Amino acid sequence: MPTACDVAIIGGGHNGLVCAFYLARAGLRVTVLERRGVVGGAAVTEEFHPGFKNSTASYTVSLLQPKIIADLKLHEYGLTIVNRRLANFLPTQDGRYLAVGEGRTKNEVAKFSSRDAERLDSYHQRLGAVSDLVRGMMLETPPNVTASGFLGALPDLLKAGRLARRMGALDLAAKRDLLALLGRSAGDYLDDWFESDPIKAVYGFDGIVGNYASPYTPGSGYVLLHHLLGEVNGQRGAWGHAIGGMGAITQAMAKACAAQGVDIRLEAPVREVLVEKGRAAGVVCENGETVRARVVISNLNPKLLFQKLVDPAVLPQDFRERINTYRMGSGTLRMNVALSELPRFTCLPRAGDHLTAGIIIAPSLAYMDRAFDEARATGWSQNPVVEMLIPSTLDDTLAPNGAHVASLFCQHAAPVLPGGASWDDHRDQVADLMIATVDRYAPGFAASVVARQVLTPLDLERVFGLTCGDIMHGRLELDQLFAARPVLGHGDYRMPVAGLYICGSGAHPGGGVTGAPGHNAAREVIKDLRRRRF
Ligand SMILES: Cc1cc2nc3c(=O)[nH]c(=O)nc-3n(C[C@H](O)[C@H](O)[C@H](O)COP(=O)(O)OP(=O)(O)OC[C@H]3O[C@@H](n4cnc5c(N)ncnc54)[C@H](O)[C@@H]3O)c2cc1C
Repeated sequence: MPTACDVAIIGGGHNGLVCAFYLARAGLRVTVLERRGVVGGAAVTEEFHPGFKNSTASYTVSLLQPKIIADLKLHEYGLTIVNRRLANFLPTQDGRYLAVGEGRTKNEVAKFSSRDAERLDSYHQRLGAVSDLVRGMMLETPPNVTASGFLGALPDLLKAGRLARRMGALDLAAKRDLLALLGRSAGDYLDDWFESDPIKAVYGFDGIVGNYASPYTPGSGYVLLHHLLGEVNGQRGAWGHAIGGMGAITQAMAKACAAQGVDIRLEAPVREVLVEKGRAAGVVCENGETVRARVVISNLNPKLLFQKLVDPAVLPQDFRERINTYRMGSGTLRMNVALSELPRFTCLPRAGDHLTAGIIIAPSLAYMDRAFDEARATGWSQNPVVEMLIPSTLDDTLAPNGAHVASLFCQHAAPVLPGGASWDDHRDQVADLMIATVDRYAPGFAASVVARQVLTPLDLERVFGLTCGDIMHGRLELDQLFAARPVLGHGDYRMPVAGLYICGSGAHPGGGVTGAPGHNAAREVIKDLRRRRF
């Protein structure tokens, strides 16, 4: 006998959970079907070596919307987010370092350029104006581009009008900045502001993290901005740590869902979206079970959903073609390492606040540019970009006493290796290179690694269903953003099959642990159900 509910959600990633919460709170019967044995998708904490656990994939928090934290009462369900004691730490090739953080950045930058230090306040103020505007759009549904005539388009025209008014309120400098950040590269933007390498590298890293690109690739300006849209405990643009790892966020979300009566099923992979008379009517699980529903919402990336779970015959041809050309691949390799001791950086050997920071191994924009070039030719760079975080310096729940865990987020690992090579044949070789890269700046690091977990782009696809290992569910490029995410004409979470929606990071406002697509999709579904469309 098929089971029945109002809403079936495919995937229990954090956005699926957020969406489920709001729908259940509105009185709907919601079933979440998650393929893995744990909820959370890319935001999970798992033991990767006896006694050592860590955030397996996503590892640092900022973008999670304060409204969602409050609505789901995540703090009451056990979530604590702490600030890093220093935001970033960048060792330089000449044996010095740059430390970036509240009250310290100016003096630190002055070590390299007094002109750059003087320009910092103005840079933050100008960037702040643009990020405030974009931040304000995260929990909004983009105006949809429709071909339904003037009356049908009226609500979206009004929405677009409100948006234009807000943009109009920016001063001329901020309007120019917005344009530059959307169209230009992070590198060009930063070169206009600063002259010294270390500060450009710290800020420019945000333009290439999870972005298979050079900091000089046009469009990387938006990726830089995307990483500034969050906050930690009220501190705008800051990144912090969830005690217990990123899984603490999604476990708290699951509790919030349970309190609203959401039925969450684990190890329940969905095989197919059931479409009857042109409408989504439920899902069929791998085990053959049918779950019938008035509405089906997918938390999967759009490519996976439409290429694997939806019969192509029910989709308009132009939509199918656009999904086939939807670009995915963030070019990232993720490692978790168990450490017998903390690293000692040559430039700052003693333990201190810098070990709570995002430690960036990439001394200049030129270094990042070369790393991307090399990766395009050979699959990865011999001088790679690595960000390392050591969450156990802020959280004693992750490793045995005296030991530590570190997250290595390695950029420019080709989503697909050239020449038909497989990541299965290169995983350990590249993992060794990443560890050796850190060891160059902190001798003894390699010897302190007692265990490691390595997730290549291929592994991220296998474990988390992230097509081409794309951490954002699709590249953050202008023609795949806002009203065009995932496809122009369907930027409002409604897909071209009636009753089928998406709520994952392949919808506005894109990737990261934001909860925003889940929140926004739920609002649109509730609207449609109230209008009795289904
Ligand atoms: C290595 C890595 C590092 C990252 N670092 C950060 C970071 O530090 N900070 C940050 O904010 N963001 C980070 N991100 C990005 C962020 O984690 C993701 O963009 C976000 O978690 C995606 O959430 P989601 O709910 O949209 O989708 P997902 O988390 O991808 O959830 C989709 C869910 O669907 C399930 N699923 C797939 N197929 C099926 C099926 N057939 N049936 C049922 N279920 C299915 C999956 O198992 C998964 O649980 C990182 C991501 C990765 C991979």
